[in-house]
Amino acid sequence: MGNLVAIVGRPNVGKSTLFNRLTQSRQAIVNEQAGTTRDRQYGKSEWVGKEFSVVDTGGWVVNSDDIFEEEIRKQVVLAIEEADVILFVVDVMNGVTDLDMDVANILRRSKTPVIVVANKTDNNMLQYNAAEFYSLGLGDPYCISAMSGSGTGELLDCILSKF
Ligand code: GDP
Ligand code: MG
Repeated sequence: MGNLVAIVGRPNVGKSTLFNRLTQSRQAIVNEQAGTTRDRQYGKSEWVGKEFSVVDTGGWVVNSDDIFEEEIRKQVVLAIEEADVILFVVDVMNGVTDLDMDVANILRRSKTPVIVVANKTDNNMLQYNAAEFYSLGLGDPYCISAMSGSGTGELLDCILSKF
């Protein structure tokens, strides 16, 4: 499949919005209702003439909190196995949650390069909030707004540098 980028993180942080922006498609279901959706969505992306694939580890079967957390963990483990780069998306408006910490603990043990993506940085003031994501122990957070596209150029440069 070539270079594969996996997008992981807890629900509602903007993974599918980022997937759609990177693949310039409307493939992923944004803000899906609780229930069943396809749990993985593949697409193609291109930046400065280099092509790569992206997988959105989007939807889950949401029945109980336990299943929910277990599914997130499963998607993270799958991403570690198959991806060349992992985008760990967090929400700058919410800060670090327990679930973010769980995901970070798994990712820190893997050899796959991880980029922390501080999404929903819709304005410059919110950039200051992103400092708390250093506590995830996974390096510099990349501030982006998947919605507006701001910061995604720098993120794409960083992704390419990891292949
Ligand atoms: P997912 O569950 O992680 O795939 O998250 P979604 O992509 O479905 O997005 C969840 C919600 O966050 C939706 O209402 C999006 O419109 C919103 N969202 C995504 N990216 C941004 C962003 O950069 N800024 C803001 N303000 N909202 C965003
Ligand atoms: Mg989604």
